[in-house]
Amino acid sequence: MQLPYFSPGTQFALGYILKGFAEDDFTDVVSSYEKYTNHYFFHPAFENEIPVPQSDIVNALSFLDNQNILISEETITRYCVDCFSLNVELTQKCPSCGSLDVLFGKTITHKCGYRDIEGAFGNPDKLICPRCKEGIYSIYSDCKIGDPTFVCRTCKSYFDVATPVYVCKDCNRIYKSGEEPYVRIKRYEPAPLLAAIKQDIMSTFLLLEALCSYLEKKGLDVRRNAILDQGEIITYWNALLLRKESKEKFALMALAPVFQLDEDMIDMLVNSKKAAKLDGLLVIYANALADAQPNSFTNERIYFVNPRQTKFDVESELVKTAAPLVG
Ligand SMILES: [Zn+2]
Ligand SMILES: [Zn+2]
Ligand SMILES: [Zn+2]
Repeated sequence: MQLPYFSPGTQFALGYILKGFAEDDFTDVVSSYEKYTNHYFFHPAFENEIPVPQSDIVNALSFLDNQNILISEETITRYCVDCFSLNVELTQKCPSCGSLDVLFGKTITHKCGYRDIEGAFGNPDKLICPRCKEGIYSIYSDCKIGDPTFVCRTCKSYFDVATPVYVCKDCNRIYKSGEEPYVRIKRYEPAPLLAAIKQDIMSTFLLLEALCSYLEKKGLDVRRNAILDQGEIITYWNALLLRKESKEKFALMALAPVFQLDEDMIDMLVNSKKAAKLDGLLVIYANALADAQPNSFTNERIYFVNPRQTKFDVESELVKTAAPLVG
């Protein structure tokens, strides 16, 4: 799972959504996309809680869906913007005259020379040539059968490729295929995997809040959900801490246990910390670390605290794991 390529807004949204599901703030999320206005609507109304671009929320939801942490269900409803009818159907348009009276089928050329689509010869059991009115007893001996094609009933032209259009059956407005208005509703709910890591997500964010309050009380400036724009690189931090006297800058990151601490993740942590010019970073991560990792992180002043192994005695926890950072 690759966090490194997520925008800061997507990281913000990911944490918010995971925390919301884990703490039962919501049991499902509905994202409605309105094609005509090119706008998303979310329920719950994330826009008020997370001030990030809509695309970041969409990315976060699709990521969680792709990772089987959420399950989604999608419905698409086409409608007419003129009369709001839902009675909008896909049909074919004649490329020569624009008529919608287009049929598709095998062409039959009768021995008298009349050519039309199979359906124009009437009942399949009792075919009759519409021009010479002769009954056709054997289609194979009386006619030449051509490949399936489109035929326009209005201008009688034949064509292999018709133009798909959507037509409103109520007001006859025609929409080019691809331009038909629709609302796409996607409903997300927790998958079993989310239930399995629910406790870890809850304790991750609980510890984050406990650390923030503790450090606030100790006189540090605490900025929650900070997006740092350092020119080229923009980074997101669950909390940014500033020690007023020394002007040292630290950050807290709540790394949801849906992410693996692989090489990409390690690079991301180290590079983001550098880009944000942080003096230190404390990562809250409810997973065991491989033995080799803590030392290399310590050199970078990146420390880990595992909420599974803490009694939420924040002071002793900090002394044990991140004394050089916040002590
Ligand atoms: Zn035509
Ligand atoms: Zn005929
Ligand atoms: Zn209409």
